[in-house]
Amino acid sequence: MPRPIVATIHLDSMQHNLARAKALSPGAKAWGVVKANGYGHGLERAMRGFADADGLALIEFDNAVKLRELGWKKPILLLEGFFGPSDLNTMAGYNLQAAVHCNEQLEWLEAAQEALTARGIRFDLHLKMNTGMNRLGFMPDAYAAAHARLIAITCVGSVTLMTHFANADDVDHPLLPINEQIRRFELGAAGLPGMRSLSNSAGVLLHASLANDWVRPGIMLYGGTPGGGTADGFGLQPTMTLSSEIIGIQDIAAGDAVGYGSRFQAEGPMRVGVVACGYADGYPRHAPLGTPVLVDGVKTQLVGRVSMDMLTVDLTALPSARIGSKVTLWGKGLPVDDVAEAAGTIGYELMCALAPRVPVVEG
Ligand SMILES: *Cc1c(COP(=O)(O)O)cnc(C)c1O
Repeated sequence: MPRPIVATIHLDSMQHNLARAKALSPGAKAWGVVKANGYGHGLERAMRGFADADGLALIEFDNAVKLRELGWKKPILLLEGFFGPSDLNTMAGYNLQAAVHCNEQLEWLEAAQEALTARGIRFDLHLKMNTGMNRLGFMPDAYAAAHARLIAITCVGSVTLMTHFANADDVDHPLLPINEQIRRFELGAAGLPGMRSLSNSAGVLLHASLANDWVRPGIMLYGGTPGGGTADGFGLQPTMTLSSEIIGIQDIAAGDAVGYGSRFQAEGPMRVGVVACGYADGYPRHAPLGTPVLVDGVKTQLVGRVSMDMLTVDLTALPSARIGSKVTLWGKGLPVDDVAEAAGTIGYELMCALAPRVPVVEG
Protein backbone atom coordinates (compact mmCIF):
# COMPACT_ATOMS: atom_id res chain seq x y z
CA MET A 1 0.00 0.00 0.00
CA PRO A 2 1.36 3.45 -0.84
CA ARG A 3 1.96 5.98 1.89
CA PRO A 4 -1.52 7.41 2.48
CA ILE A 5 -0.81 11.05 1.65
CA VAL A 6 -2.49 12.43 -1.48
CA ALA A 7 -3.40 15.79 -2.98
CA THR A 8 -6.75 15.85 -4.73
CA ILE A 9 -7.24 18.55 -7.35
CA HIS A 10 -10.84 19.61 -7.91
CA LEU A 11 -11.08 20.68 -11.55
CA ASP A 12 -14.79 21.47 -11.24
CA SER A 13 -13.98 23.94 -8.48
CA MET A 14 -11.27 25.55 -10.61
CA GLN A 15 -13.88 26.03 -13.30
CA HIS A 16 -16.34 27.40 -10.74
CA ASN A 17 -13.81 29.90 -9.38
CA LEU A 18 -12.93 31.13 -12.85
CA ALA A 19 -16.63 31.65 -13.54
CA ARG A 20 -16.77 33.67 -10.27
CA ALA A 21 -13.88 35.86 -11.44
CA LYS A 22 -15.57 36.46 -14.78
CA ALA A 23 -18.92 37.24 -13.15
CA LEU A 24 -17.20 39.78 -10.89
CA SER A 25 -15.51 41.44 -13.90
CA PRO A 26 -18.30 41.97 -16.39
CA GLY A 27 -17.02 42.99 -19.79
CA ALA A 28 -13.42 42.13 -19.00
CA LYS A 29 -11.44 39.24 -20.36
CA ALA A 30 -9.64 37.07 -17.82
CA TRP A 31 -6.13 35.70 -17.83
CA GLY A 32 -5.98 32.56 -15.73
CA VAL A 33 -2.69 32.89 -13.87
CA VAL A 34 -0.91 29.53 -13.93
CA LYS A 35 2.61 30.44 -12.83
CA ALA A 36 4.44 28.21 -10.36
CA ASN A 37 3.02 25.06 -11.91
CA GLY A 38 -0.52 26.37 -11.60
CA TYR A 39 0.01 27.41 -7.96
CA GLY A 40 1.07 23.83 -7.29
CA HIS A 41 -1.89 22.21 -9.04
CA GLY A 42 0.04 21.06 -12.13
CA LEU A 43 0.33 23.02 -15.36
CA GLU A 44 -1.68 20.67 -17.52
CA ARG A 45 -4.41 20.38 -14.89
CA ALA A 46 -4.59 24.16 -14.61
CA MET A 47 -4.89 24.39 -18.37
CA ARG A 48 -7.88 22.05 -18.29
CA GLY A 49 -9.43 23.66 -15.20
CA PHE A 50 -9.21 27.08 -16.83
CA ALA A 51 -10.16 26.03 -20.34
CA ASP A 52 -12.72 28.86 -20.32
CA ALA A 53 -10.12 31.56 -19.57
CA ASP A 54 -9.41 34.04 -22.35
CA GLY A 55 -5.71 33.44 -21.93
CA LEU A 56 -3.19 31.94 -19.53
CA ALA A 57 -0.52 33.99 -17.79
CA LEU A 58 2.67 32.75 -16.18
CA ILE A 59 6.33 33.53 -15.55
CA GLU A 60 8.22 30.54 -16.90
CA PHE A 61 9.21 30.27 -20.57
CA ASP A 62 9.53 26.49 -20.48
CA ASN A 63 6.00 26.13 -19.18
CA ALA A 64 4.69 28.66 -21.71
CA VAL A 65 6.14 26.46 -24.45
CA LYS A 66 4.66 23.40 -22.76
CA LEU A 67 1.21 24.99 -22.82
CA ARG A 68 1.47 25.36 -26.58
CA GLU A 69 2.67 21.77 -26.90
CA LEU A 70 -0.30 20.68 -24.78
CA GLY A 71 -2.55 22.36 -27.30
CA TRP A 72 -3.43 25.71 -25.69
CA LYS A 73 -4.46 27.92 -28.63
CA LYS A 74 -5.56 31.11 -26.85
CA PRO A 75 -3.17 33.87 -25.73
CA ILE A 76 -0.28 33.23 -23.35
CA LEU A 77 1.25 36.09 -21.37
CA LEU A 78 4.66 36.13 -19.69
CA LEU A 79 4.05 38.33 -16.65
CA GLU A 80 7.72 38.95 -15.83
CA GLY A 81 8.57 39.68 -19.42
CA PHE A 82 11.54 38.30 -21.32
CA PHE A 83 14.91 37.91 -19.66
CA GLY A 84 17.23 38.32 -22.64
CA PRO A 85 17.27 38.82 -26.41
CA SER A 86 17.13 35.09 -27.18
CA ASP A 87 13.73 34.85 -25.49
CA LEU A 88 12.31 36.88 -28.39
CA ASN A 89 12.81 33.87 -30.65
CA THR A 90 10.85 31.68 -28.28
CA MET A 91 8.10 34.29 -28.12
CA ALA A 92 8.02 34.43 -31.91
CA GLY A 93 8.06 30.66 -32.30
CA TYR A 94 5.25 30.00 -29.86
CA ASN A 95 3.17 33.16 -30.19
CA LEU A 96 3.76 34.40 -26.64
CA GLN A 97 2.88 37.81 -25.27
CA ALA A 98 5.02 39.45 -22.61
CA ALA A 99 5.30 42.30 -20.17
CA VAL A 100 7.80 45.05 -20.98
CA HIS A 101 9.06 46.72 -17.86
CA CYS A 102 12.55 48.18 -18.48
CA ASN A 103 14.64 49.99 -21.08
CA GLU A 104 16.86 46.97 -21.68
CA GLN A 105 13.87 45.09 -23.04
CA LEU A 106 13.16 47.99 -25.40
CA GLU A 107 16.78 47.81 -26.59
CA TRP A 108 16.55 44.07 -27.25
CA LEU A 109 13.37 44.60 -29.24
CA GLU A 110 14.91 47.45 -31.23
CA ALA A 111 17.97 45.38 -32.03
CA ALA A 112 15.88 42.43 -33.22
CA GLN A 113 13.08 44.31 -34.95
CA GLU A 114 14.42 44.12 -38.48
CA ALA A 115 14.90 40.37 -38.50
CA LEU A 116 11.63 39.71 -36.68
CA THR A 117 9.65 42.04 -38.90
CA ALA A 118 11.08 40.31 -41.98
CA ARG A 119 9.69 37.06 -40.59
CA GLY A 120 6.26 38.66 -40.19
CA ILE A 121 6.42 38.63 -36.39
CA ARG A 122 4.23 41.03 -34.42
CA PHE A 123 4.38 40.84 -30.62
CA ASP A 124 1.43 41.77 -28.44
CA LEU A 125 3.07 43.38 -25.44
CA HIS A 126 2.06 44.71 -22.05
CA LEU A 127 3.82 47.87 -20.95
CA LYS A 128 4.14 47.80 -17.21
CA MET A 129 3.94 50.87 -15.03
CA ASN A 130 5.43 51.00 -11.55
CA THR A 131 2.69 52.68 -9.55
CA GLY A 132 4.29 52.12 -6.17
CA MET A 133 4.98 48.41 -5.81
CA ASN A 134 8.57 49.20 -6.81
CA ARG A 135 9.30 45.86 -8.33
CA LEU A 136 8.89 45.95 -12.12
CA GLY A 137 7.84 48.76 -14.41
CA PHE A 138 8.42 52.26 -15.68
CA MET A 139 7.76 55.18 -13.35
CA PRO A 140 4.60 57.13 -14.25
CA ASP A 141 6.61 60.10 -15.55
CA ALA A 142 8.68 57.85 -17.84
CA TYR A 143 5.76 55.79 -19.07
CA ALA A 144 4.61 57.85 -22.05
CA ALA A 145 8.15 57.97 -23.43
CA ALA A 146 8.52 54.21 -23.04
CA HIS A 147 5.18 53.78 -24.78
CA ALA A 148 6.23 55.97 -27.70
CA ARG A 149 9.47 54.04 -28.04
CA LEU A 150 7.67 50.70 -27.88
CA ILE A 151 5.02 51.46 -30.49
CA ALA A 152 7.70 52.73 -32.86
CA ILE A 153 9.28 49.27 -32.96
CA THR A 154 8.21 47.57 -36.16
CA CYS A 155 7.72 44.09 -34.70
CA VAL A 156 5.32 45.35 -32.02
CA GLY A 157 1.61 44.71 -32.50
CA SER A 158 -0.73 45.75 -29.71
CA VAL A 159 0.42 47.43 -26.50
CA THR A 160 -1.69 46.93 -23.37
CA LEU A 161 -1.25 49.28 -20.42
CA MET A 162 -0.57 47.31 -17.28
CA THR A 163 0.16 47.79 -13.60
CA HIS A 164 0.06 45.64 -10.49
CA PHE A 165 -1.44 46.45 -7.08
CA ALA A 166 0.52 46.13 -3.85
CA ASN A 167 -2.39 46.51 -1.45
CA ALA A 168 -5.62 45.77 -3.27
CA ASP A 169 -6.73 43.79 -0.22
CA ASP A 170 -6.28 46.80 2.10
CA VAL A 171 -8.10 49.87 0.80
CA ASP A 172 -6.92 52.15 3.58
CA HIS A 173 -3.28 51.15 3.54
CA PRO A 174 -1.38 54.00 5.19
CA LEU A 175 1.55 53.96 2.76
CA LEU A 176 0.02 53.00 -0.56
CA PRO A 177 -3.78 52.76 -0.76
CA ILE A 178 -5.08 51.34 -4.01
CA ASN A 179 -6.58 54.72 -4.93
CA GLU A 180 -3.11 56.21 -4.93
CA GLN A 181 -1.87 53.51 -7.30
CA ILE A 182 -4.82 54.20 -9.58
CA ARG A 183 -4.13 57.94 -9.46
CA ARG A 184 -0.52 57.34 -10.52
CA PHE A 185 -1.63 54.96 -13.25
CA GLU A 186 -4.12 57.45 -14.69
CA LEU A 187 -1.49 60.16 -14.59
CA GLY A 188 1.15 58.08 -16.35
CA ALA A 189 -1.26 56.59 -18.89
CA ALA A 190 -3.16 59.80 -19.65
CA GLY A 191 -3.99 60.06 -23.32
CA LEU A 192 -2.37 56.75 -24.27
CA PRO A 193 -4.33 54.33 -26.42
CA GLY A 194 -4.55 50.63 -25.70
CA MET A 195 -6.30 48.09 -23.55
CA ARG A 196 -5.76 48.15 -19.80
CA SER A 197 -4.90 45.35 -17.41
CA LEU A 198 -4.89 46.13 -13.70
CA SER A 199 -6.53 43.70 -11.34
CA ASN A 200 -5.14 40.64 -9.60
CA SER A 201 -7.44 38.54 -7.40
CA ALA A 202 -7.67 41.21 -4.73
CA GLY A 203 -8.64 43.75 -7.36
CA VAL A 204 -11.26 41.42 -8.81
CA LEU A 205 -12.73 40.48 -5.44
CA LEU A 206 -12.70 43.85 -3.72
CA HIS A 207 -12.67 46.46 -6.49
CA ALA A 208 -14.94 45.18 -9.22
CA SER A 209 -15.23 48.66 -10.73
CA LEU A 210 -11.53 48.47 -11.69
CA ALA A 211 -12.07 45.58 -14.08
CA ASN A 212 -10.81 46.96 -17.35
CA ASP A 213 -10.22 45.18 -20.61
CA TRP A 214 -8.35 42.35 -18.85
CA VAL A 215 -8.14 41.04 -15.30
CA ARG A 216 -5.39 38.74 -14.00
CA PRO A 217 -6.81 36.56 -11.20
CA GLY A 218 -4.53 33.96 -9.67
CA ILE A 219 -5.09 32.84 -6.10
CA MET A 220 -8.87 33.19 -6.23
CA LEU A 221 -9.00 30.64 -9.03
CA TYR A 222 -7.40 28.18 -6.63
CA GLY A 223 -9.92 28.84 -3.87
CA GLY A 224 -7.59 30.98 -1.79
CA THR A 225 -7.99 34.63 -0.98
CA PRO A 226 -5.48 37.45 -0.99
CA GLY A 227 -7.02 38.71 2.27
CA GLY A 228 -9.97 40.97 2.86
CA GLY A 229 -12.48 38.14 3.29
CA THR A 230 -12.99 34.40 3.37
CA ALA A 231 -13.07 32.10 0.37
CA ASP A 232 -16.55 31.01 1.36
CA GLY A 233 -17.71 34.60 1.68
CA PHE A 234 -16.39 35.32 -1.82
CA GLY A 235 -18.14 32.24 -3.20
CA LEU A 236 -14.89 30.42 -3.95
CA GLN A 237 -14.36 26.68 -3.64
CA PRO A 238 -11.17 24.88 -2.58
CA THR A 239 -9.31 23.36 -5.51
CA MET A 240 -6.65 21.34 -3.66
CA THR A 241 -7.31 19.01 -0.76
CA LEU A 242 -4.21 17.64 0.94
CA SER A 243 -5.17 14.55 2.87
CA SER A 244 -3.47 11.72 4.69
CA GLU A 245 -4.20 9.25 7.47
CA ILE A 246 -3.37 8.56 11.07
CA ILE A 247 -0.55 6.01 10.98
CA GLY A 248 0.28 5.86 14.69
CA ILE A 249 -1.28 6.67 18.06
CA GLN A 250 0.42 7.28 21.41
CA ASP A 251 -1.29 7.59 24.77
CA ILE A 252 0.92 9.83 26.84
CA ALA A 253 0.86 11.11 30.41
CA ALA A 254 1.05 14.60 31.89
CA GLY A 255 4.55 15.94 31.43
CA ASP A 256 5.41 13.75 28.44
CA ALA A 257 6.77 15.62 25.44
CA VAL A 258 6.11 15.14 21.73
CA GLY A 259 8.46 15.33 18.77
CA TYR A 260 11.82 16.94 18.00
CA GLY A 261 12.97 19.43 20.54
CA SER A 262 10.30 18.10 22.91
CA ARG A 263 8.66 21.38 22.18
CA PHE A 264 5.17 20.31 23.22
CA GLN A 265 4.55 18.96 26.70
CA ALA A 266 1.23 17.36 27.68
CA GLU A 267 -0.57 19.02 30.56
CA GLY A 268 -2.60 15.92 31.26
CA PRO A 269 -3.20 12.46 29.80
CA MET A 270 -3.39 12.78 26.05
CA ARG A 271 -3.94 10.81 22.91
CA VAL A 272 -1.56 11.85 20.16
CA GLY A 273 -2.12 10.89 16.53
CA VAL A 274 0.74 10.63 14.07
CA VAL A 275 -0.09 11.79 10.52
CA ALA A 276 1.84 10.76 7.42
CA CYS A 277 2.61 14.30 6.28
CA GLY A 278 5.65 16.43 6.97
CA TYR A 279 7.61 19.35 5.66
CA ALA A 280 9.06 17.22 2.86
CA ASP A 281 5.49 16.97 1.58
CA GLY A 282 5.09 20.74 1.60
CA TYR A 283 3.46 21.16 5.00
CA PRO A 284 4.99 24.25 6.67
CA ARG A 285 7.55 23.27 9.29
CA HIS A 286 6.93 26.50 11.17
CA ALA A 287 3.21 25.70 11.74
CA PRO A 288 2.77 26.18 15.48
CA LEU A 289 0.76 24.45 18.17
CA GLY A 290 -2.91 25.11 17.45
CA THR A 291 -2.74 24.98 13.65
CA PRO A 292 -6.06 23.42 12.59
CA VAL A 293 -6.19 19.85 11.24
CA LEU A 294 -9.28 17.74 10.47
CA VAL A 295 -9.43 14.13 11.65
CA ASP A 296 -12.46 12.18 10.44
CA GLY A 297 -13.98 15.54 9.60
CA VAL A 298 -13.55 16.91 13.14
CA LYS A 299 -11.34 19.90 13.73
CA THR A 300 -8.42 19.36 16.07
CA GLN A 301 -4.95 20.86 16.25
CA LEU A 302 -1.31 20.31 15.57
CA VAL A 303 0.89 19.56 18.58
CA GLY A 304 4.68 19.36 18.58
CA ARG A 305 7.10 20.22 15.83
CA VAL A 306 6.36 19.23 12.22
CA SER A 307 9.04 16.77 11.11
CA MET A 308 10.14 15.73 7.62
CA ASP A 309 7.64 12.93 7.11
CA MET A 310 5.20 13.19 9.99
CA LEU A 311 3.26 15.57 12.10
CA THR A 312 1.37 15.02 15.34
CA VAL A 313 -2.16 16.01 16.29
CA ASP A 314 -4.24 16.01 19.45
CA LEU A 315 -6.74 13.12 19.43
CA THR A 316 -7.76 13.44 23.09
CA ALA A 317 -11.25 14.64 22.15
CA LEU A 318 -11.51 12.06 19.34
CA PRO A 319 -11.72 8.67 21.09
CA SER A 320 -12.96 6.95 17.95
CA ALA A 321 -9.95 8.00 15.88
CA ARG A 322 -7.74 5.05 14.97
CA ILE A 323 -5.03 3.99 12.56
CA GLY A 324 -6.40 4.75 9.13
CA SER A 325 -8.58 7.69 10.23
CA LYS A 326 -8.81 10.26 7.47
CA VAL A 327 -6.88 13.48 7.96
CA THR A 328 -7.33 16.71 6.02
CA LEU A 329 -4.40 19.13 6.14
CA TRP A 330 -6.18 21.73 3.99
CA GLY A 331 -8.84 21.87 1.29
CA LYS A 332 -12.44 20.71 1.46
CA GLY A 333 -13.66 21.30 5.01
CA LEU A 334 -10.56 23.23 6.06
CA PRO A 335 -9.76 26.44 4.13
CA VAL A 336 -6.13 26.69 3.11
CA ASP A 337 -6.26 30.32 4.29
CA ASP A 338 -7.04 29.17 7.87
CA VAL A 339 -4.03 26.84 7.93
CA ALA A 340 -1.83 29.50 6.35
CA GLU A 341 -2.90 32.12 8.83
CA ALA A 342 -2.14 29.85 11.78
CA ALA A 343 1.26 29.11 10.25
CA GLY A 344 2.07 32.77 9.63
CA THR A 345 2.01 32.51 5.85
CA ILE A 346 -0.42 32.71 2.94
CA GLY A 347 -2.40 30.08 1.08
CA TYR A 348 -0.33 30.78 -2.03
CA GLU A 349 2.82 29.51 -0.36
CA LEU A 350 1.20 26.34 0.97
CA MET A 351 -0.26 25.30 -2.38
CA CYS A 352 2.81 26.29 -4.41
CA ALA A 353 5.02 24.29 -2.05
CA LEU A 354 3.20 20.99 -2.51
CA ALA A 355 6.14 18.61 -2.85
CA PRO A 356 6.75 16.45 -5.92
CA ARG A 357 6.68 13.29 -3.81
CA VAL A 358 2.98 13.77 -2.98
CA PRO A 359 0.82 11.77 -5.40
CA VAL A 360 -1.80 13.92 -7.10
CA VAL A 361 -5.23 12.72 -8.20
CA GLU A 362 -8.23 14.50 -9.63
CA GLY A 363 -11.60 14.35 -8.01
C1 LIG B 1 0.87 36.51 -9.81
C2 LIG B 1 0.35 37.68 -10.54
C3 LIG B 1 -1.04 37.90 -10.61
C4 LIG B 1 -2.02 37.05 -9.84
O1 LIG B 1 -2.02 37.45 -8.48
P1 LIG B 1 -3.03 36.83 -7.42
O2 LIG B 1 -2.79 37.60 -6.18
O3 LIG B 1 -2.65 35.40 -7.26
O4 LIG B 1 -4.38 36.99 -7.98
C5 LIG B 1 -1.48 38.96 -11.37
N1 LIG B 1 -0.61 39.77 -12.03
C6 LIG B 1 0.72 39.59 -11.96
C7 LIG B 1 1.63 40.53 -12.68
C8 LIG B 1 1.25 38.56 -11.22
O5 LIG B 1 2.57 38.38 -11.16
